[in-house]
Amino acid sequence: MSTVYPVVAIDLDGVVCDFARRFAEIARAEGFAVPDGYVPRDWHFSDVLTRAELDRCWRAAMAVEDFWLTVSPYLDSLCLRNLFGDFQVYWLTARSQSAGAPLLWQVQTWLKRARLGGEEWGARHSTTVIVGRPNEKAAVLRAIGAKWFVDDLAETVQWCADMAPECRSLLLDRPWNASAEGVPRVASLKEFVQMVRAARAAEGDPCADVS
Ligand SMILES: [Mg+2]
Repeated sequence: MSTVYPVVAIDLDGVVCDFARRFAEIARAEGFAVPDGYVPRDWHFSDVLTRAELDRCWRAAMAVEDFWLTVSPYLDSLCLRNLFGDFQVYWLTARSQSAGAPLLWQVQTWLKRARLGGEEWGARHSTTVIVGRPNEKAAVLRAIGAKWFVDDLAETVQWCADMAPECRSLLLDRPWNASAEGVPRVASLKEFVQMVRAARAAEGDPCADVS
């Protein structure tokens, strides 16, 4: 007899972590005119930065000691804890090593501080996988047998939907993906959690043991 814990994969930046706001701060510190409250319309900040300026900001961000600890969580990310207990959650992120501590430590420490990881907040129910490029997420989804995945990058979601068809990949509504068409979406993390839990319940007793 064993309990089934379906696998759910969740992107971090733009989903759980407010990367855009932190990156805008970096851009301002580099002297670029990024307005307060700026919300990017695409993932390259192309309405306020040239590609060369974007690259410079990336270098500046990666030079910050433990940069990934300096990003704020989105306020609604705590609702993801409603998956703990009935699912195995993989935080699936494509990130680069910044100055400071090893990237994996930064990610895991950040999750702990955000009350989404660590012994107290979810180590029993979640783990972290870091890939080098977003498209590599599809191979991970297949390897871990993920049933659900949420990400904020339309290209990634489409790629994963095509390459990991056993997993239901969903795009989280964000201003920078508003123009993407033909990609299955959720409006919020709360909706994602409700959808995943409802699908689990529809399969039968969510806590049922199977032999
Ligand atoms: Mg993302």
